[in-house]
Amino acid sequence: MSQLWSPAVRALTPYVPGEQPRERLVKLNTNENPYPPSPAVAQVLRDIDTEQLRRYPDPDSRALRETLAETHGVAPEQVFVGNGSDEVLAFAFQAFFCQPRPLLMPAISYSFYPVYCKLYDIAYRTVALDDRWEIALDAFDGDNGGVVFANPNAPTGHGHPRAEIARLLSRIQDSVVLVDEAYVDFGGESAVPLVADHPNLLVTGTLSKSRSLAGLRLGYAIGSRELIEGLERVKNSFNSYPVDMLASAVAIAALNDREHFKRCCQQVMDTREETRRSLVELGFEVLPSQTNFLFTRHPQFAGETLFAGLRERGILVRHFNRDGLSDFLRISIGTDEEMRELITALEAMI
Ligand SMILES: *Cc1c(COP(=O)(O)O)cnc(C)c1O
Repeated sequence: MSQLWSPAVRALTPYVPGEQPRERLVKLNTNENPYPPSPAVAQVLRDIDTEQLRRYPDPDSRALRETLAETHGVAPEQVFVGNGSDEVLAFAFQAFFCQPRPLLMPAISYSFYPVYCKLYDIAYRTVALDDRWEIALDAFDGDNGGVVFANPNAPTGHGHPRAEIARLLSRIQDSVVLVDEAYVDFGGESAVPLVADHPNLLVTGTLSKSRSLAGLRLGYAIGSRELIEGLERVKNSFNSYPVDMLASAVAIAALNDREHFKRCCQQVMDTREETRRSLVELGFEVLPSQTNFLFTRHPQFAGETLFAGLRERGILVRHFNRDGLSDFLRISIGTDEEMRELITALEAMI
């Protein structure tokens, strides 16, 4: 704590990302994709005209927004891009949720949401998950300044079908509903088609997980023109160029390789279900997952014990010591070989 920090900064509780270890570990803790990005990405980087780097990039990222628009069947004016979806979320919180009425969010969801609330001094109210660890959409009710949740949710893995999001939107029409679809490509159902009829719906997405580009930092939002314009107002008051020239070229190449994308997502989902079967055989309870991770606990072992035992055996998973989640492990889906190592290690411990 420094006296040189402004009072608001002293009061912050920053988000703590999953560890990026230096030693070689089987790394199943941050939901990265185990497969490399499209080969088209390497080609783009080889072909880059470095002379162009003396120029600023296009502040409106038009080419990238056109590609994302085509990918999602919307107009380019309905797309916003940023330096990772974390940044897009931060812009959205500032653009739509800084108001006197409380923001509603699930008690268990992406732990960055309360961090943004603190940063922007946004009042919020949490809604408990139901007894199956699913978001109780019907409980998002009453006077509110907006709603935010991940769908599929993290770290629980459950996703609501589009029809249920539509039902929520039929009730909530005068505040922004933000659906974070970081994991939707692993078996979820996207709410993007609802954007056409719901000017208060904002859907965010990322190239970090299903496109294997966490290191690139590219996220986006899709919504009505008025919501996108709101995001642009914040962006243009903060940083005119959040997406650099290289990120833009790489992202376009990755988005255009739909075959590679589909193959990798399918492989991750197949490995996930195989891993589920192995975990169940070992006596684990495994929540249903439409994501690239499994959320699981064992009736006889504390989460902390399992986490530490795996770490000793060179396997890193995520453990949350809060909100009644402390017996669970969140295990990212790696390659088949990595998951075999995980199961072998668990067999030795149980
Ligand atoms: C990983 C993740 C993000 C962040 O994605 P980036 O684009 O890498 O910033 C956002 N929301 C959820 C729920 C995530 O799991």
